Amino acid sequence: MMAFLDIKDLHVSIDGKEILSGLDLSIDRGQVHAIMGPNGSGKSTLANAVLGHPKYTITSGDILVKGESIIDMPTSERAKKGIFLGFQYPTEIPGVGYSHFLRNAYNNLNKSLSQEQDREVFLTVREFHEYVKKNLDSVGLDPSFLGRYLNEGFSGGEKKRSEVMQMLVLKPIVAILDEPDSGLDIDAVKAVAEAINRLIDTGAGVVVITHYARILRYLKKLDHVHVVAKGKIIKSGGKELSEELEAKGYGWLGLQDK
Ligand code: ADP
Ligand code: MG
Repeated sequence: MMAFLDIKDLHVSIDGKEILSGLDLSIDRGQVHAIMGPNGSGKSTLANAVLGHPKYTITSGDILVKGESIIDMPTSERAKKGIFLGFQYPTEIPGVGYSHFLRNAYNNLNKSLSQEQDREVFLTVREFHEYVKKNLDSVGLDPSFLGRYLNEGFSGGEKKRSEVMQMLVLKPIVAILDEPDSGLDIDAVKAVAEAINRLIDTGAGVVVITHYARILRYLKKLDHVHVVAKGKIIKSGGKELSEELEAKGYGWLGLQDK
């Protein structure tokens, strides 16, 4: 059985400067991994490189989804393989209707994954809206969000709730969530964790990038915790590693936060 996501000796540069310097990570079906590490260590770079952001150049190494290399595929093809990225800083896209965007994304993914995953087919816009409304409700967002433009005027908390809501609707096979808990109040952190738990129930692989043990405590499952520094994983462990980091800070590992 091949891993859902396999990152092999990944080297990534931005404008000729190496940011990731040989990162290895393998996410199996149903596994939950947390990635921690000081600011500027390359966590978001990893997430962006997996989705094929044009600014991030893979200079060597490979990224495989179920054994198939994706590094030569455009972002849209990678998304159709069932990879989802929850952004650290979701961008406001005025003019792109939330509901329209999500229905297109869902339909594209549904066509691509229907062979290997049990997925609903929504014949009408109304059926799809009912499905999204249930998910909006589950993360504490009002149905009126469906009528808005993507992320436009959303508060920080609403953006984060909205990212995991999209994840629930799309049902990816691997979700990479870049600081889904940053800037959230306690209730919102719980709501986001509950959404992640619902995705875990589907058997997806999940990567949660975070600075805090709090969100990890709410997860029903946590298989591995990794610390990234200077573009590499320098330490891996279980849940206890996240608790230790929260208690002692990165200085404990001889690392300095930028
Ligand atoms: P983290 O998410 O761990 O805080 P990042 O991956 O965002 O770290 O950043 C790693 C390094 O790469 C930082 O030095 C950052 O300034 C640089 N970097 C990231 N994205 C860009 C970009 N789009 N353009 C220029 N430099 C970038
Ligand atoms: Mg980051």
